[in-house]
Amino acid sequence: MSKAKVLPLNFGKSKPAPRAFICEVMRSKRKTLAIYISHKKVVVRCPLRTTKVQVEAFISANQGWIEGRLYEESLRDKEILRIEQGAKIFYRARERTIVFKEGRKQRILVNGDEFVIQGHKLTAAKARVQVEDFLIDKASEYILPRARGLARHLGVEHKITEIKLRKTKSKWGHCTSTGVLQYNWLIMLAPYSIIDYMITHEVCHLLHMDHSKRFWNQVEAVCSGCDHYIDWLKQHEHRFWF
Ligand SMILES: [Zn+2]
Repeated sequence: MSKAKVLPLNFGKSKPAPRAFICEVMRSKRKTLAIYISHKKVVVRCPLRTTKVQVEAFISANQGWIEGRLYEESLRDKEILRIEQGAKIFYRARERTIVFKEGRKQRILVNGDEFVIQGHKLTAAKARVQVEDFLIDKASEYILPRARGLARHLGVEHKITEIKLRKTKSKWGHCTSTGVLQYNWLIMLAPYSIIDYMITHEVCHLLHMDHSKRFWNQVEAVCSGCDHYIDWLKQHEHRFWF
């Protein structure tokens, strides 16, 4: 049977021409084939006895999806935050331009579309430290009292042993069974609604140390519409790490 010809339906967003990609095949004791994209690499997981021909057929059946995901990844790469003169910063859900300004006083000013970093003989390295300090200050001013306040409201303040602010590689927050709450201060680049959701999430773990239905009901009771915030973070968090 010959394949029916289908007109490409890709008007709207134009995608680049198909490119070659690296593909890794991992055979294991699984029953089905699956494709993942990981760090610009295509990974096919398949049962032990899958032949090369079967793997190739599976890849070509998923060609469109693979190209779409690789394209998305390349777009995300371009959006990675660099603290440099003229670079873009996604602050409070708005893209702003980083402006280095000479001045005796070290400060950061957010002026409409500009994110001004003022300092003496500013370099990219100095500016980076300034932005870090700015976000850490904001996090201690905002997150610490709100997390305690919410814990008090929920009757679990006594369970908090410490609240840490720490930049981690991939996590926004963490709560241990010994009552240590941890927040990634990079979250201060996000809108307040997203920060509030993160505060709520970790504080609610003081009541339920899991991601059970009871836990999510509690989060939702404090922060309604949290699904929306979770989606927003998934979509934009790649723009916050530097
Ligand atoms: Zn959690």
